[in-house]
Amino acid sequence: MTTSATSVQRSSVVACLNCGRRNRVPVAAEGIPRCGSCQTPLPWLTDAGDDDFDVVAGAADVPVLVDLWATWCGPCRMVAPGVERAAKELAGRLKAVKVDVDKAPGVAARFGAQSIPTLLVLDHGREVSRQIGAVPPDQLLRWIESALEKTTASSTGPTGG
Ligand SMILES: [Zn+2]
Repeated sequence: MTTSATSVQRSSVVACLNCGRRNRVPVAAEGIPRCGSCQTPLPWLTDAGDDDFDVVAGAADVPVLVDLWATWCGPCRMVAPGVERAAKELAGRLKAVKVDVDKAPGVAARFGAQSIPTLLVLDHGREVSRQIGAVPPDQLLRWIESALEKTTASSTGPTGG
């Protein structure tokens, strides 16, 4: 039996890359977050655990980059800047979700993550690509962009609504 969705909606404040306005961005929402001032898509970098992974990552309309990491994992820290860069450079096309495997062993087990860092690109909850081990930001970006081409969302692009 699945648990009911948690009503607690976390959010974070993200500065618009275009106009600098600070926007509150929820961890889960329909569509993509946009700047309240200039409508530019905002970087979407959040985190999830066993309880809310399905809501945050599985139900997202845009492809999701999942970063399976842990605090004690040195190589994971090498990956983090690339994940942040991907969230910015691919704002509106990608949602980045960091998962601490120590706090979310269920998510790690679901994807069979034997080692970390493990990076996944999900399309509506379906895994389309996987990268195991740390890679430099440039390489990570190229991997993500090629993974996005395998997703259904890439051909349609963002639509208003
Ligand atoms: Zn703006």
